[in-house]
Amino acid sequence: MNITKESRLVADGAWGTELFKMGLDAGGCPEEWNLTHPDVIRKVANQYLNAGSDLIITNTFGANAAILERYGLLDDLARINRIGAEISCKAAAEAEGERTVFGSIGPFGRLISMGEVDEDEVEDSVKAQAEALLEGGVDGIVIETLTDLAELTCTVQAVKTLTDKPVVASMSFDSGPAKQCTMMGVTPAELVTEAEAAGADIIGTNCGLGVDNSIRICQALRSATDKPLWIKANAGFPELVGTKVVYSMAAEGYAEFVPELIRAGANIIGGCCGTHADHIKAIRAIVDR
Ligand SMILES: [Zn+2]
Repeated sequence: MNITKESRLVADGAWGTELFKMGLDAGGCPEEWNLTHPDVIRKVANQYLNAGSDLIITNTFGANAAILERYGLLDDLARINRIGAEISCKAAAEAEGERTVFGSIGPFGRLISMGEVDEDEVEDSVKAQAEALLEGGVDGIVIETLTDLAELTCTVQAVKTLTDKPVVASMSFDSGPAKQCTMMGVTPAELVTEAEAAGADIIGTNCGLGVDNSIRICQALRSATDKPLWIKANAGFPELVGTKVVYSMAAEGYAEFVPELIRAGANIIGGCCGTHADHIKAIRAIVDR
């Protein structure tokens, strides 16, 4: 699948929030389920493919050395990533039409620019993760939910040493007075400059404060780059109900913003936390119109 500035593609929705719905404990490791509950992971992939996703990701967001070590799963890093890739790729291959799979790499969990970890340690982990994802058959890699520019650069460069397949650089913007910066103060324009210099093929934003906020971020990205743009927002503003974070924007409400996102230059539109198959179906219907 050739992704360009003219593409209009539908991606998938959340994986984490879906796995919690399907029985994952609050303290559980979502990525371990690639080994222990492959049928459930396949079910999430199928839900999105059936809802009309052209592109799905893998259940490997937190499968890096720092996070897996906390769960005592460091020795399984390669297997968790490879099998995660194989599950999504098999589901995509068995779905009708042309589908594509991007291997997910999330934040390392310790920040380079805060001196919590050095670049070599992040690079080693990213390479191990990306190598296993590529071995599992992914068509590209998405680096997502990052907030630290040094980590973004290091991660994109590490992946680019391993493959010519497309690499997405996606950050979460939810801070600053206008909510247009990452937690670490990075602006959309800074993301574009650094991501392009590091060799990213697609630039994006995911998670954050909801789909309405992502429109302004998408506009800012588009005014800074001609690369394809990847937009996966949360289902509205996260709200705290009791001790739980909930995302209350329903599928139709989310999809209402899709025409504006397309006008703002979005090429790949999906969802992040709180979105599920209904959101993807609603996005698909708008994109097809
Ligand atoms: Zn999210």
